[in-house]
Amino acid sequence: SRIAELVTSNLREIPDFPEPGVLFRDITPLLANGPAFRELIDLLARRYDGRVDAVAGLESRGFILAAPLATTLGVGMLTIRKAGKLPGPVIGVDYALEYGTARMELRPDSVAAGDRVLVIDDVLATGGTAGASVRLLRECGAEVVAVSVLLELEALGGRARLEGLTVESAVSF
Ligand code: 5GP
Repeated sequence: SRIAELVTSNLREIPDFPEPGVLFRDITPLLANGPAFRELIDLLARRYDGRVDAVAGLESRGFILAAPLATTLGVGMLTIRKAGKLPGPVIGVDYALEYGTARMELRPDSVAAGDRVLVIDDVLATGGTAGASVRLLRECGAEVVAVSVLLELEALGGRARLEGLTVESAVSF
């Protein structure tokens, strides 16, 4: 697809970041390419136009995609954040990392029951971050229309962890 083309042709791969043995996929070249970034957002907006009441960005690279997509669609943007960043009252969901746990939080007053919400992030890896975010939205009575990412790292099993959800990735490795 054209979206896949935009992503792959504006991607940087960085070995051993943030730690040895990890190949980090960096989307900042895409963000820095004005025409490509705008076309990406326009294509995503076309796909979701009329189907969502809000776009939820996952901290922090998800915010960069969610904000222009929400404004293009003319809907609100929600921020689902790492522990301790949102002023209260918040609800939280903990999830397992390779070592230890992490937590995502949401202000329940930022979403209304029945809202159709699109979840967006740059990369889907194990699916822990997106899975916790979906639980938060559902706890508020929202309907998660899809989880949309630019890149999916298939070997890490994120899609299986998000069973029953529509997962849309532009590119998978
Ligand atoms: P997961 O919770 O699915 O294991 O990890 C996904 C989260 O980690 C996303 O918020 C994503 O931004 C970040 N992440 C994991 N691996 C990469 C990567 O290679 N590149 C980028 N840009 N983000 C990553």
